Amino acid sequence: MAGRPGYLTLPIFSALAAIGYVYYTAVFLAVPRWLGLATAAGVANAAAFTALAAACLATYAVAVRRDPGRVPPGFVPDVEDAESTVHEIKRKGGDLRYCQKCCHYKPPRAHHCRVCKRCVLKMDHHCIWINNCVGHENYKIFLVFVLYAVVASFYALILIIGSVLHSVPKDEQSGSDSSRSSIIICGVILSPLALALAVLLGWHIYLILQNKTTIEGLERCGWQKRVEISIIIHMTLVSMRILFQFWGLTYSAGFALYRIL
Ligand SMILES: [Zn+2]
Ligand SMILES: [Zn+2]
Repeated sequence: MAGRPGYLTLPIFSALAAIGYVYYTAVFLAVPRWLGLATAAGVANAAAFTALAAACLATYAVAVRRDPGRVPPGFVPDVEDAESTVHEIKRKGGDLRYCQKCCHYKPPRAHHCRVCKRCVLKMDHHCIWINNCVGHENYKIFLVFVLYAVVASFYALILIIGSVLHSVPKDEQSGSDSSRSSIIICGVILSPLALALAVLLGWHIYLILQNKTTIEGLERCGWQKRVEISIIIHMTLVSMRILFQFWGLTYSAGFALYRIL
């Protein structure tokens, strides 16, 4: 895929590490502590969360790998047919939309991505967490992934809170009591993440109901609202990135220490 730096980027590694970390805490720490892995309720919850985590991973992988949608080679708008919906004119100047970098005409709702270095059909936005554009071909799978991620995050939070509030007697626990602090740390990290994912899902449901992409949603509102939304998105992304980098470094340091010992 031209322009994309590859799949081994820090955000992708962080997202995979986060899924693995939450899965481990929920299934191997929280469930045994709250319900016990030998009980029917414990096994059922562990199996349900495993299925949800697998669905998250599968949809994430497809969103990363799937091409977001190329402009068909040789696409030329039908300038004769003024009624055609394929014929979109720039808002200012009245010229046909032409990409100087790709040297071709742009169909309606297509945009040039500076990261992918190409035009993307019905471009929504470039997502650093999948190192890919979200566009016509992968929007649905991206949304399904966000939906699974929101359900999994809140499910994990329920398991975490339940395990902190209730626990099976100490002699029946598979782990030591230190697991309690690990579970609490995971809950503290997961709460803002779950909230951010829920806001993202809500934003996309709003856009679908308005038949807009993220670019169009930000384009057509007033500059003050646009600045506010941009600041919120930027702050959320920066805080999530710092959080993931911190946990990525902690994981690397822990792994290095494990290798030395
Ligand atoms: Zn282009
Ligand atoms: Zn892109």
